[in-house]
Amino acid sequence: MIQLKSAREIDLMAQGGKILGATIDALRAAVRPGMSTGDLDQVAEEFIRSHEGAVPAFKGLYGFPGSICSSVNHEIVHGIPSKKRVLKEGDIISLDVGVGYKGYFTDSAATVPVGQIGPEAQRLLDVTQRSLDAGIGAAQVGNHIGDIGFAVQAVVEAAGFSVVRDLVGHGIGVEFHEEPQVPNYGKPKRREKLVPGLTLAIEPMVNVGGPATKTLPDRWTIVTLDGSLSAHFEHTVAITENGPRVLTRA
Ligand code: MG
Ligand code: MG
Repeated sequence: MIQLKSAREIDLMAQGGKILGATIDALRAAVRPGMSTGDLDQVAEEFIRSHEGAVPAFKGLYGFPGSICSSVNHEIVHGIPSKKRVLKEGDIISLDVGVGYKGYFTDSAATVPVGQIGPEAQRLLDVTQRSLDAGIGAAQVGNHIGDIGFAVQAVVEAAGFSVVRDLVGHGIGVEFHEEPQVPNYGKPKRREKLVPGLTLAIEPMVNVGGPATKTLPDRWTIVTLDGSLSAHFEHTVAITENGPRVLTRA
């Protein structure tokens, strides 16, 4: 069942989302060679909890042990933060964070460079960010879920990269994962119609190589099957009469 949000609920989500946006910014500023993904988890957890009433939504969600998902290089999503996983110059790291605040959830992710990265890695980050922007741009009243995926896919495939299909975006708000699913591929005018009050996590996951994935033996980390680099950008967005409202910016 799709749960539409009132203007008041969207404003509450924007309050939590502002904390989340600031958390991503703090992580981006903290990332450097020699730091572990466990260190970043600690930065995020302390930052989120320093805001009265805000909690890291991932901690314990479906049993996940971390406050963030930290996925390095060919890891797509759901990497478990660890003090043993030390970042090195040239890595890329996807930081996926959820915040719970006043009864509502928001979800955002960004892939950031660790020191100096190579030109292909940089192009992957740029294209994935642009594909998210295109998906958000298509999140207009009267469009459909398929228009979002179509817009994302067009940017990604024009660049010669591939869209992950095994994982999709989602409705969000009262629950962390709500209906509808928001695939990063599709056709215009297909799937659910976009109406005011719909709140969606739009989150392209883009691989340099093929779209296929596999899950590591830790049963969480999802990686590219071909070992190619992967990036992930995400915002929580409200559909409004005035256009898409991004809720997860500082
Ligand atoms: Mg996320
Ligand atoms: Mg999400």
